[in-house]
Amino acid sequence: MAPQDLKVAILGAGMGGLTSALALAEKGFKHIDVYEHASDLGFVGAGIQLAPNMARVLDHLGVWRGIEAEAVNIEETSVRAGAADTELAHVDLRYIESTYGYKHMVGHRSSLANGLYQGCLKHADRITFHFATPVSEVTSFGPRPAFTVTPRDPSKKPYTETADVLLGADGIKSLVRVAMLSELNIHSAVKDTQQAAYRIMIHKDQASDDAELLSLIASNKVVRWIGEKRHIIAYPVSNNTIYNLSTTQPDSNFAAATNATYTTKGSKSAMLGVFADFCPLVQRMLNYVPEGEVCEWKLRVHEPLPTWVHRSVALVGDACHPTLPHLAQGAAQAIEDGAVLAVVLSRLPSTDPESIHKALKVYEKVRKDRAYALVELAAASGRALHLGDGAAKEERDKQFAALKAGKGPVPDKWADADVQKEIYGFDCIKEAETRFEEYFASARVTKLA
Ligand SMILES: Cc1cc2nc3c(=O)[nH]c(=O)nc-3n(C[C@H](O)[C@H](O)[C@H](O)COP(=O)(O)OP(=O)(O)OC[C@H]3O[C@@H](n4cnc5c(N)ncnc54)[C@H](O)[C@@H]3O)c2cc1C
Repeated sequence: MAPQDLKVAILGAGMGGLTSALALAEKGFKHIDVYEHASDLGFVGAGIQLAPNMARVLDHLGVWRGIEAEAVNIEETSVRAGAADTELAHVDLRYIESTYGYKHMVGHRSSLANGLYQGCLKHADRITFHFATPVSEVTSFGPRPAFTVTPRDPSKKPYTETADVLLGADGIKSLVRVAMLSELNIHSAVKDTQQAAYRIMIHKDQASDDAELLSLIASNKVVRWIGEKRHIIAYPVSNNTIYNLSTTQPDSNFAAATNATYTTKGSKSAMLGVFADFCPLVQRMLNYVPEGEVCEWKLRVHEPLPTWVHRSVALVGDACHPTLPHLAQGAAQAIEDGAVLAVVLSRLPSTDPESIHKALKVYEKVRKDRAYALVELAAASGRALHLGDGAAKEERDKQFAALKAGKGPVPDKWADADVQKEIYGFDCIKEAETRFEEYFASARVTKLA
């Protein structure tokens, strides 16, 4: 049997699941089933950064040009004091395209998800989507993974499915991760970051009398306003028709909630209160959000996992490396996962469960250290951005001042050239292709009995 004849089941049609499905189909896999809890792709109204390392993978998969056509090219970034609106740092990002081969773009999440989905639909003979069809239990991790599917339609009965490979791309609340850790007797938990986020979109028609905001919507700029324990990042999306804001602030509304709660309808007055001492422009922008449409997200991460793989099952994306958004790399890393999985599975020398396990271990080896390094960097960048008065903030502000004189690192790691080199300069597909044989030969088979 060729690797392409393997039956692959994917749990979750988020960025990780969609990319895995598309990348496998592009490699010729013929039997790919995607199980998704939601009844459709559930387009969240929010922006997303389309960094060069993400664009490289999307281009390789043939979907970048369509996504790029609706996105906005980012040429500069300005880090500003939230209260005074004075510029702490300005970084020219135009060098990115010539250095990394892709522009740094930003877009609408629906544009990214839809681009991946349309790519999958071109392989309708290979990929079958099962919407409103959650998986409720993983009953075996191998030699053939098995799981229970419980359709949301109560008239349909639960049933058992099997596959040769099971990919758990089921997000931060991953059921596959919980089952895997339980079977391996590993104790590792979701971590409360004590941070939450509001996500806001303002259409330019809403701001027709606001010249300052209109000029931001028309710009090619990411702006970050920072303050103690809080910041706002903002940029235009959808061909400069919408201004997207994503905030971070101390979590007060979810603090008492259970782990099951991740988003909530927020209160507008509470949101305005959090940023009450920020500049008038920020106040105005937050005020555009209609009463009753404030949405707050809890930001949770997970302790690093000792393994992402058990037998013929692997975790993907937020299921294994959820991150704070301060480097804007969560979806990009899920997309890298999907691309690498397709490489390693297509290179299988044999399709027995032991080889499948070893190939999945190669995926883990290519991806895990990198993903966790970026999770840590995102957390560190958040700490630097959110400093209150004291020696550490003075030191950080000296760095901002030095930057104005043209030297030194950027405390906002997202805008730092060395960090960008580490993130954008890495070609995950090339790495997986070149290292496959070496890593496969040294992969240890664990817990196959
Ligand atoms: C405020 C904020 C801003 C962000 N900004 C950026 C950014 O600019 N750039 C970036 O790259 N990333 C960003 N991210 C991160 C990014 O959104 C996530 O990392 C990414 O969406 C993770 O993709 P995923 O496919 O792993 O998981 P998800 O997108 O969570 O998808 C998981 C899917 O699995 C489904 N599912 C769950 N359980 C089951 C089940 N039992 N059966 C079937 N289906 C199931 C869910 O319905 C969902 O569709 C941001 C995140 C936040 C919170």
